[in-house]
Amino acid sequence: MTEVETAMCQDCLTAAVKSHHGFKSGCSGCAARAAGRSPEFARARAAGKQDRGYQTLLTTLGLTHESVKAAHAADAMNRSKA
Ligand SMILES: [Zn+2]
Repeated sequence: MTEVETAMCQDCLTAAVKSHHGFKSGCSGCAARAAGRSPEFARARAAGKQDRGYQTLLTTLGLTHESVKAAHAADAMNRSKA
């Protein structure tokens, strides 16, 4: 499984356009989005480095930091609050 970035289900597509809390089990896009909303990611982002808890989360979900950052950027919930 190398095509992590292209995996998009209906929940992923919906979440890209509006605040959405649906997650499809087994969808790597949803897993990356969930990680993007996690306190672990917020902590790593604020600190500018990945701590052990965040690295454990990535390993557990089988994600890369790049895919989580991309999912966070694509997640409508993380924008729109201007
Ligand atoms: Zn999905």
